[in-house]
Amino acid sequence: MDYRIDGRRALVMGASRGLGRAIAEALLAEGVKTAICARDTDRLQKTAKEIGALPFPCDLSQPGAGARLVQEVTARLGGLDILLVNTGGPAPASFETIDEAQWRAGFESLWLSAVSPIRAALPGMRAQKWGRILVVTSVAAREPLPNLMISNALRAGLHGLINALSREIGADGITVNALMPGYTLTERLKEAGFKAEEVAKTVPLGRIGKPEEFAALACFLASEPAGYVTGQAIACDGGLLRSI
Ligand code: NAD
Repeated sequence: MDYRIDGRRALVMGASRGLGRAIAEALLAEGVKTAICARDTDRLQKTAKEIGALPFPCDLSQPGAGARLVQEVTARLGGLDILLVNTGGPAPASFETIDEAQWRAGFESLWLSAVSPIRAALPGMRAQKWGRILVVTSVAAREPLPNLMISNALRAGLHGLINALSREIGADGITVNALMPGYTLTERLKEAGFKAEEVAKTVPLGRIGKPEEFAALACFLASEPAGYVTGQAIACDGGLLRSI
């Protein structure tokens, strides 16, 4: 399929490794000029060099950082067509162990780090009458995962935001969708304490997903032919979710 995004300009957040990196690589392969950000500057520079992206160090959990990042990238690329919102997930925790400071930090890093760059990207996308906004959430937003309370709770809210936002921006040719990864083989999966062989048994396809499989979905949703898909939360999870 011809995605017809050759020459478009993208920002992929949280892309020094894992799903973000795989998405950046997929967009670059389609001829998209791609900027990547992450907070670990050394790994970011290394990744950018390896895949041919433009590196922008940024800690998205800091107030206003996402908006400033979008402004810098837009100025550097001469515009922005595709915004891929993605950050690291919160630490595992159950409800009674999470205090108010941790909820606030979770809100900053999972919620405002999504809202702030989207707000900054919209005026330019509206002016050019074309835009693709993709937000990486999690299957946990639809069906809670054990011991991931902050992700379970806040990401479900992001899906509401995405659907409501699609109604406000559709007339300007901008689509916005959530992508829900299931168990996918990245460093994060190991760090969150999941054992690949064990979780694979719970997946109907009988295996853990590959980052490039998730990236293929993201790349399609960023494409011209995907222009009639908006306001959706779409899973790439090997059939893990039971709800339809
Ligand atoms: P990862 O930890 O491997 O990679 C996260 C990337 O985001 C890294 O490049 C990291 O540097 C960057 N990042 C983290 N915090 C940041 C911050 N504050 N500012 C800027 N950059 C930051 O994670 P992943 O497996 O690629 O997952 C990406 C997202 O998808 C996470 O939010 C995760 O919770 C979610 N998710 C992953 C899985 C999975 O199985 N891998 C499943 C469900 C949901």
